[in-house]
Amino acid sequence: MRRLVILGSTGSIGTQALELLAAADDLELVALSADRRWEELIAQASRHGVRRVAIADEESAEQARASWDGEVLSGPEALAQLILGAEPDLVLNAIVGSAGLAATVITLTEGIDLALANKESLVVGGELVIELAAATGARLLPVDSEHSALYQLIGSEKGQSPGTIERLTLTASGGPFRGRSRAELESVTVEEALDHPTWKMGGKISIDSATLMNKGLEVIEAHQLFGTSYDDVEVVIHPQSVVHAMISLSDGSSLAHLGYPDMKVPIAYALHWPQRAKLELPQLNLEQLGSLEFEAVDNDAFPCLGLALAAGRAGGTAPCVLNAANEVAVAAFLDRRCSFLQIAEVIEATLAAAEIEQSYSFATLIEADRAARGAAAAHLTALA
Ligand code: NDP
Ligand code: MG
Repeated sequence: MRRLVILGSTGSIGTQALELLAAADDLELVALSADRRWEELIAQASRHGVRRVAIADEESAEQARASWDGEVLSGPEALAQLILGAEPDLVLNAIVGSAGLAATVITLTEGIDLALANKESLVVGGELVIELAAATGARLLPVDSEHSALYQLIGSEKGQSPGTIERLTLTASGGPFRGRSRAELESVTVEEALDHPTWKMGGKISIDSATLMNKGLEVIEAHQLFGTSYDDVEVVIHPQSVVHAMISLSDGSSLAHLGYPDMKVPIAYALHWPQRAKLELPQLNLEQLGSLEFEAVDNDAFPCLGLALAAGRAGGTAPCVLNAANEVAVAAFLDRRCSFLQIAEVIEATLAAAEIEQSYSFATLIEADRAARGAAAAHLTALA
């Protein structure tokens, strides 16, 4: 029996992971966490026999304590206490945003295996995260579908001489606005932006998918996870989201990972590695699919991918600044305080004005994140 902690259990990834546990007799759930949806969290804990949770929002934590007899941790040390106290074999980090970095760092520092959905951890602090995992021997299992696919594809090439893998390709659905020009994106609404064609996800990543920032974050994530240079990571639009990723090899052959889009597949892969779970999901039917489409990214309509690539190449705290500005701008868009196109404007202005440091210490990253949030908020005010 492996002991499992799920952080961000009330979200899209968290709830799907909990559904998978019903059929997983090798995993024992020992702790859960959320930000403010305490009623859902307590209901999950009760359903799964969990006696210890962490709640980020103080007020929500108070309310949870008043109505539940289990242990509710809160405050700045809550996640550390939750993770260390639970003595887990595996932590699933499904927190959204740079708020997930601390949990990633704590887990890896303790040498605990990490199933990582929180891609922002690798964007904000990729060097730190990868070095920690290497130093403690903790395994880092990507949950992001493209990276899970790459992890499996690259693993299948183990034993080949270095340099055999020449290129990684990440596919992007293109989001709800695929095919629209920049002018046509001027007045799109929050509802339209949240209406993703192939994946059902949390609000923040849905907007990131509509701007293509999600794919930008994922290029940085792939660079950090697999050590591939930015020149060798390619993005292609693939509206069906059936091909998740591809590796191109030195002899001209390519290996791709295919399946109907369903996050349960990569979540289960990370939770059960090195075993493969038995999931009741439909097998791919190529005859029914008929054809698959691929097209180039429109960088004029979707500048966020280019901004992310530039930040990734600049290195240091640039990806952290990019991420923080994006989180602030996306929250403003969801609150209807800025337009869709202004998301990229805020990020670009924040990056242009930021002092980038070539340091990856936790303290440096936290400070860069804080400063970038302030700068992005000021740019938003100036736009209004
Ligand atoms: P959701 O918004 O659905 O859920 C986020 C979870 O994190 C919730 O449980 C939320 O709690 C919790 N949370 C939010 N802020 C904090 C905080 N400051 N401290 C502690 N917990 C917090 O997000 P998703 O499940 O969609 O995404 C989670 C991560 O997985 C993201 O990094 C995303 O990029 C990545 N991912 C998601 C995919 C998907 O299909 N959804 C696909 C690939 C990657 P509460 O409910 O109380 O707000
Ligand atoms: Mg993805």
